[in-house]
Amino acid sequence: MPQRSSSPIISPDPAADPRAARSIGSYDAGRPGPLVVIFGGIHGNEPAGVAAIAAVLAALQERGLPLRGRVLGLRGNCAGLVKGVRYQARDLNRSWQAPAIVAMLARDRASERSCPEDREERELLSALAPLLAKARAPITFLDLHSMSGDGAPFSCMADVLRNRKIAFALPVPVVLGLEEVIDGSMLGFFSDLGHVGVAVEGGQHDDPRTQANHEAAIWLTLVAAGCLRREQVGDLALHHGRLAAATAGLPRVLEIRHRHVVKESDDFVMRPGYANFQPVRAGEAVADDQGGPVMTPEGGVMMLPRYQGQGEDGYFLARAVSPVWLAISAGLRRARADRLVRLLPGVARGAADGELLVAAGRPRAIDVFHLFGYRHERAREGRLVFSRRRPDSAPLADLPAEIHALLAEHG
Ligand SMILES: [Zn+2]
Repeated sequence: MPQRSSSPIISPDPAADPRAARSIGSYDAGRPGPLVVIFGGIHGNEPAGVAAIAAVLAALQERGLPLRGRVLGLRGNCAGLVKGVRYQARDLNRSWQAPAIVAMLARDRASERSCPEDREERELLSALAPLLAKARAPITFLDLHSMSGDGAPFSCMADVLRNRKIAFALPVPVVLGLEEVIDGSMLGFFSDLGHVGVAVEGGQHDDPRTQANHEAAIWLTLVAAGCLRREQVGDLALHHGRLAAATAGLPRVLEIRHRHVVKESDDFVMRPGYANFQPVRAGEAVADDQGGPVMTPEGGVMMLPRYQGQGEDGYFLARAVSPVWLAISAGLRRARADRLVRLLPGVARGAADGELLVAAGRPRAIDVFHLFGYRHERAREGRLVFSRRRPDSAPLADLPAEIHALLAEHG
């Protein structure tokens, strides 16, 4: 008889507000298989993902489905969810890099009063560290978000082949490169350890369709990850159809070309009427700030226009990518041709392992490096810096020992 696993992996917050409990719940049927970890509310003003996780866990339980492996639902920013704010002191979906995590864990616990997100991150790490340590196969991480502006759902991922399997199982546009322009996203960190990480933007925060879109994404992910067979989810076609209808006519794959960074002192205000995937021209005034109108540096489609007071992302621009390009890059990486990129003219090795430097101004350099599984880091002294994503052929990595030690000490 399938049953829900006994207890949440970490104890609920003593404040006893059910919205403040880290674990939303988990489900397993006592059968071996993949682990799927689903996050809702990494941004506290995005409760639709949490509601969707709870609804799917309840449905799994009610239907008694013989799931392989385990599904675990976690709240991201618990205190933010209670207060209904994106975050209190800092964005919880940033600074997930080993050095920043070590520095955060080493700080005095008193710092949590001035930065409540330190506590959120520490608790998330404490919940995940034992799972990461004992993983023998990639864990699938699904991170559910919603948006302040209107627009169709989409997914984001770092472009490694293991992520494509999940992302392309969802009939929504796949947006590449967001983790390149956002420093230290949580899923980028897990993906770099060799796990699978896909984020889904389900729709506008308060739109009732957003929760339904997230539920559809969860069911499709459970099937794609191998936890459930298609025929075990009676309404799978409905879920698929819902997402397909919400994204009809949109490109299958896009890549982020530009991020407009906002500082608090900018008084950034998006002009009304922009939605995800809306075409914009180069030089279009899409927002206003202290300096006057904010113009787009190039044409493309609008992504995540900021119609809320918080966050440092004003808007993003994306453009469609040909699926042929993705097929070619998959072939090159499977053939391990990615190592040849080092031999291209004008390419030099950087100081860090797997880091390559390319003279700036080389047309299409970024495209070529993406093709080979590298990510663009930044420009440094007139050169573009690229780093290699963890290849699909590389073994899983655990959290650095220093992080485990700090968690054991202060966790
Ligand atoms: Zn979000």
